[in-house]
Amino acid sequence: MNEQTASTRATGHPTRWAPLVKRAPAGGMAPNLRDYDQACAEFSWDQARGWLDGLPGGRGLNIAHEAIDRHAAGGNGHRVALRWMSRNGAGRDFTYDDLRKLTNRFANVLCRLGIGQGDVVATLAGRIPCLYIAALGALKNRSVYAPLYSAFGPDPIVSRMTIARARVLVTTDVLYHRKVASIREQMPALEHVLLVRETAAPLPPATWDCNALLDAASDEFTIPPTDPQDLALLHFTSGTTGQPKGAMHVHEAVVAHYATARFALDCQPGDRFWCTADPGWVTGTSYGIIAPLTHGLTMIVDEADFEAERWYRIIRDERVTIWYTAPTAIRMLMKAGTPLARQHDLRSLRFLGSVGEPLDPEGVVWGVDAFDHPFHDNWWQTETGGIMIANFASMDIRPGSMGRPLPGVVAAIVRPAADGGVEAIDEPGVQGELALRPGWPSMFRGYLGDEERYRNCFAGGYYLTGDLARRDPDGYYWFVGRADDVIKSSGHLIGPFEVESALLEHEAVAGAGVIGKPDPVAGEIVKAFVTLKPGFAPDEAVRRSIQAHARTRLGAVVAPKEVAFVASLPLTRSGKIMRRLLKARELGWPEGDTSTLEPS
Ligand code: AMP
Repeated sequence: MNEQTASTRATGHPTRWAPLVKRAPAGGMAPNLRDYDQACAEFSWDQARGWLDGLPGGRGLNIAHEAIDRHAAGGNGHRVALRWMSRNGAGRDFTYDDLRKLTNRFANVLCRLGIGQGDVVATLAGRIPCLYIAALGALKNRSVYAPLYSAFGPDPIVSRMTIARARVLVTTDVLYHRKVASIREQMPALEHVLLVRETAAPLPPATWDCNALLDAASDEFTIPPTDPQDLALLHFTSGTTGQPKGAMHVHEAVVAHYATARFALDCQPGDRFWCTADPGWVTGTSYGIIAPLTHGLTMIVDEADFEAERWYRIIRDERVTIWYTAPTAIRMLMKAGTPLARQHDLRSLRFLGSVGEPLDPEGVVWGVDAFDHPFHDNWWQTETGGIMIANFASMDIRPGSMGRPLPGVVAAIVRPAADGGVEAIDEPGVQGELALRPGWPSMFRGYLGDEERYRNCFAGGYYLTGDLARRDPDGYYWFVGRADDVIKSSGHLIGPFEVESALLEHEAVAGAGVIGKPDPVAGEIVKAFVTLKPGFAPDEAVRRSIQAHARTRLGAVVAPKEVAFVASLPLTRSGKIMRRLLKARELGWPEGDTSTLEPS
């Protein structure tokens, strides 16, 4: 089937792959979105608001009510909401009624600890049941839920906890000993640490046993009136410069979580939904918790890390119908080979989605080879809170394209305008910055404590995404690359500044510049260029010591995989590292405009 020529994704030109014409599923369900143009013409966010219940008595809109209580109250309490697989493979089911009671307990625990509306409750954990209970229990209490990536080292944890001024941290005893205990004093706002105990070790001082607290709490809780504009979620993301950014989302975001899952992931009654995203990142909350539950589905959660055969067994045994995953995982599955997929009966699958990084055309069509379904690429980011551009179940796919804007979403390609703002580029095929007209419910409401950075995201009536893209004559969007220097490694957004800062803490490092180097599996890997202080030799021992230091401070996923010694770093006249130039030199690209380069 692959007689087409290879992708030209790197140049951003629409690829020469032929559209992937889909067969209508024999006797299968019709997709939710049947006619794209009609859906766009008829849809409004007000209409989508009506697809949800709202709190009883007109007391507002709360994500946790939409995700759990309305199903439990509506006669579906017995339905399995969360089907959890532990690392060792043992499964545990939580019905909607179980989740209702457990999240009520967690909300009561927070009340008992004096944690209330607007207080930040952070989690640092993998996919364990308590993470889901804490997230939704915090939302019931109108506290703000902030997930942290459990593979972070101490530095990224401190910076995010400090920006969030989190009063509560839910983590495991293992992660607490490994990452939190030594930095606890650097987080003065942190009052309560709730530990899920995974070992028999005694409870460390100044921590709570999370399960003991839950056991002692009542399972009745009434969600207080919640304004749709009340803060609900705090997701951290990275920019090119400075500290991480805490993107704030409100309870109204649930309208977009629900509607986008209906349109872009084709959620239908009875679906068994598996989102493989890590719960420390935005996809893990929007589509790894909220979207499937608001649809009343059974959500599959696997505690373990990626393993091809295990994943196929899960799809088969759990009869997964919707599978939302990421290009790095798809590339690893491709490496494991089509025959492995074909050894398993995966006929339960109905819809395959992919997000987080560019999905090459090869990956899209490999889905057909391996699963009889293509992967549907879709695009969004932490700030948008939900899917904005997608390949829909009912439409033929243009492999390599991110698809078309969702109903209710107005996208454009923009360029700088003469008045200092931006203007939309109407002609198709021209590269520019991907921009969105504000107004969808899950749009971020600011970066916590950084109003200026938030303001800088808007121009000419658009939210500027920081991505470069093109639109083809039929309205399909094609990703070109980032407009800034942030790195996407295995789907995780990494700020070069954060890595450089950690490298500079090493006694041998005088200067550091960090780039994303293309990698066939991870998309990009973090590569650092360092200059050394006098007295340090650019040898293997120093390199290993720098890498070990970075891993300890940042965590293995964020730390550079490669460290190169250079005599000097290209700096602008104002002293900023020209990472673009480091990248061009690394990849043998033209160096472009170097007029701002400080003469070395
Ligand atoms: P994050 O905020 O961590 O979710 O990262 C968002 C960024 O990931 C976007 O701005 C893009 O640069 C990239 N991204 C997300 N989805 C896609 C996609 N389907 N194709 C290409 N890049 C994507």
